[in-house]
Amino acid sequence: MSSAKKHEHYNCADIEALAQRYVDGQLNDYENRLFEEHLEYCLPCDKKIQFELKLKEIVHIKGREMIPDEKLKLKLKNLFTDLL
Ligand SMILES: [Zn+2]
Repeated sequence: MSSAKKHEHYNCADIEALAQRYVDGQLNDYENRLFEEHLEYCLPCDKKIQFELKLKEIVHIKGREMIPDEKLKLKLKNLFTDLL
């Protein structure tokens, strides 16, 4: 019926659900604002999104080399865990 979310804050489940669209730049301004607002006070989500952004960046750069996604993800995750 009515939208569950009006003028609210996103919770971690929302962030998880919207993460891919955020990374791909597909959220509208309002969603984007709520999303980033959550990241400001939620460190786990912030780290997750930073990771996703970094991953996208690297996949973009390395795209031509056709590196298997899961392998790269794992490699990057290990690298990233060390940095954090
Ligand atoms: Zn969160």
